[in-house]
Parts: sequence; structure tokens; C-alpha cells
Amino acid sequence: MRKDRIIGKRISVLGMARSGISCAKLLKKTGAEVFASEIKSGEPLTPQINQLKALGIDFETGGHTLKVIWDKDFIVVSPGIPLDIPILRQAENSGIPVFSEIEVAFWLADAKIVGITGSNGKTTTTTLVGEILKEDQRECRVGGNIGIPFSSIVEEVSSNGILVLELSSFQLERIEEFKPHIASVLNITPDHLDRHPNLKSYMEAKLRILENQAEDDFAVLNADDENSQKLASCGKSRKAFFSLKKEVEQGTFIRKGKIVSRWDGKEKEIIETSQIGIKGPHNLYNACAAGAICAILGITFKSMQKALRTFKGVEHRLEQVAVISGVNFVNDSKATNVESVWYALQSVSPPIILIAGGKDKGGNFSKLRELVQKNVKALILIGEAKEKLKDALGDLVPTFYSDSLKEAVGLGFKKASPKDVVLLSPGCASFDMFKDYQHRGDMFKFCVKEIAQKHGAAINL
Ligand code: ADP
Repeated sequence: MRKDRIIGKRISVLGMARSGISCAKLLKKTGAEVFASEIKSGEPLTPQINQLKALGIDFETGGHTLKVIWDKDFIVVSPGIPLDIPILRQAENSGIPVFSEIEVAFWLADAKIVGITGSNGKTTTTTLVGEILKEDQRECRVGGNIGIPFSSIVEEVSSNGILVLELSSFQLERIEEFKPHIASVLNITPDHLDRHPNLKSYMEAKLRILENQAEDDFAVLNADDENSQKLASCGKSRKAFFSLKKEVEQGTFIRKGKIVSRWDGKEKEIIETSQIGIKGPHNLYNACAAGAICAILGITFKSMQKALRTFKGVEHRLEQVAVISGVNFVNDSKATNVESVWYALQSVSPPIILIAGGKDKGGNFSKLRELVQKNVKALILIGEAKEKLKDALGDLVPTFYSDSLKEAVGLGFKKASPKDVVLLSPGCASFDMFKDYQHRGDMFKFCVKEIAQKHGAAINL
């Protein structure tokens, strides 16, 4: 507990979205003088403004003025805010520290922390670990980048409990003392190269999850991922691994169709892979990572087994939507990078009609060539990245452009035969056409529902 870093301090919180508001409230309650600042303005901010007013928190909207740095002890930034905006540059020049919300909330944490990061699988693995802990009747809360701010749950868990946090590289960029008892890096692939100048800087941000760990802490790393492997020699924590390809010394691996846990020489079978509720090779990695984390926490194998069997995944991640006239529709709107599409193309059974595109994040689509050739029957491209995708893959299979997702779904159904899968797995961000990936996924499901109604098919939405 480091309440002393907050009590009586003058603090600016940048960004008035969910985590900013939640952090501002927590800091005020703890005894700080808080100032909130938001670049946007207008009607949509009314609920946030009302909350701040009710708590007597001073604020500004429509831009960040010098009030953000004037007289302040430090600044807290929300994850979406670029660190190189002028006001933060000025803060840095004036020697005012800039922290992320997870750093500041950590100062008030009593519970053990499990921090999960990586390019893909964070939400699935974080949710799964939470489900296993609940099954084992542990006092726990799940939050972080998952949509429930760390600052909104940090005080709800006692020193006997566990806080499971999904952490993005943006959140890790501005930590100082933040230290999870168990840190997991699921994989590191070139995502967010639009924001990080190169893979090295992206890896450095992920690496920060290990930097404050001590000898009695643990890191759970992917033994099959070259970049994550490079972290094995970093930090002081004990290292455990998960692998689908080799039997690791400490951690989890696959042997004869079962997930096996090995810890200090002792082995135990957790579950048959065929019984796991979430499907596909990527999800087997997520299940192995969750197994290793929970083994370290001393969770019973019975609870692990039960939760692994019943957990069916998170919405918008290879989500089964409907079967209409034998055509299967799958919503993988959360696939915002090339690697997720790569896994999706191996996780649903071909032939696949792939709907892809959106706002380009700098990924290399030609990595998908082999799988597109093997498993994809037609490509339907949407959004700003249309041409880039066509250049990378368009020579392999029939390729079409659509101006809207509705048109793309309709075209997908038209081109499909029974047993085909119409898969939305965009490999791009959604912001060119949608509010976010949830909006894109909801829209996909809405379009599928319209087709289902026309064809009298049952749909469970
Ligand atoms: P994140 O929170 O890291 O974005 P999610 O669990 O939300 O991860 O999954 C995002 C996308 O990545 C989905 O399309 C999902 O099917 C895919 N995915 C999930 N786990 C993995 C993994 N271990 N490796 C690669 N892709 C994955």
C-alpha cells in the first residue's frame, strides 16, 4: 500500500473515459486534489461530467490546457492517449511524472495480482483464469484492459484474494512500482506497429510487466514463441512455461492429448484437450497458460477441469452466430491483427469465405497466403485496407470489394454452399467504419439475423 503517494497530492487525470473517471474517483476518495481533462467535448460527455460534479472534482473538456501541469504533483494518463502529445511533452520537460492508471491503482492494492499481457489471447485467458478461480471459490475480481478499470475493483479484494488483470502494452508503458505476483506474456507478435515505432519498442513495453518482480514472484511464458522466449532471462522472478510442442520443465504442456502440469518434478494431468470448451490451437495455448497460472496459485485440478470444460469463450472471438441453409456464420470481430486471422483460418473448418479489412494497423497480410490458398474459397474485403489486402492475397482466390458490412455478409451468403463458413475475421482495427470491434461484431450479427429471418432459420441472439 502506498496511500502516501496519493493523500494530499495534486493530480491531473487525462482522459474522461471509463478508466479515467474511475481513477479520478479513487484518487479523490483516497484524499487527493484531482483535476480531470478531456480532449473531446459536447453532449456525449454529460454522464461523466455529472459524476465529476457530484464528487466536486474540477475538470475541463475540449482540450488539455496548462491547468493539467500547473501546480501538479503528477499526471495519470488513460490507455488511449498517445504519450507524445504536447501537454505530456511539456509535463516531462517540467519534471512532472506521468503514470498509467494501473500504476496508480496498484498503490492501493492489498490482493495478489495476476497480470496477463501479450499480442493475442489476453481477454480469453484473463476471463478463463477468473472462471477457474470462481469455480475454486476464491475471492477474486477480473479487470484491467478488459473493460472493468483496475481502479474500480482494486479496493474490493482483500489481502487473501486475487486480482486478475488484462494488461495492454500501453498500460505497461507508464508503470513505476507495478508488480504482479504472477505475470504472463502469452505471445509477442507485431501488433500495434501503428503506435509503437518497431517490434523492439513493443517488446520493451511488454517486458515491463516483469521488471519489478522479486524472487518469490512468477512469470508464465510461451515456450513456443520466439519473442516471448527472449524474456526468459529477464527479471528476478521464477519462470514457468507453457507449450504445445515440447515438454517443459516447469509449467504446462501437451502429452497424449492431455494438458499436463509439471511443477518441481511432480506431474499431474489437468484435462483431455478434447473436453476443453474453447476450440482451436490458439485457445489450447490460452488454456495451457491459464492452467500454469492456476497451478502456481494452488487451485485444485478439479476446479480447473470443470471451468475449462464449461467456459465457452468470450463474445466476438470466433463466436458461433448461426447456421442458415447449412452455411455457418462465425464472428471473430476481435481479430484486429494478422496473427489472429492466421489462427482463425486454422480454427474453423474450411471452406471459408473470409470477410476482412478495416483500418490498417501496419501488419503484413502476405503471411496469410498459405492458409488463404489452403482454406479460403473467397475473399470479401471492406474498409480502408481493401487494396492492401487485395495486393497481398487477391491473386489466390476470387476477391470482391464491399462498401458495407451488410453488403459483405449478403455477398458471403450468396457465394456460400452448405457446410461453408462465412467468417468475419478482419485483421484490422474497426475505427474507419465502426465505433469499435464490439460495434463491428454486433453489426455482423445483426446482418446475419436479418438473413436468418428471411430464411426462417433459428438464431440464438
Ligand atoms: P486480446 O485480448 O489479446 O485481444 P482475445 O482473447 O480478445 O485477445 O482474442 C483476440 C483475437 O485473437 C480473437 O480473434 C481470438 O480468436 C484470437 N486469439 C485468442 N487467443 C489467441 C492466441 N493465443 N494466439 C493467437 N490468437 C489468439
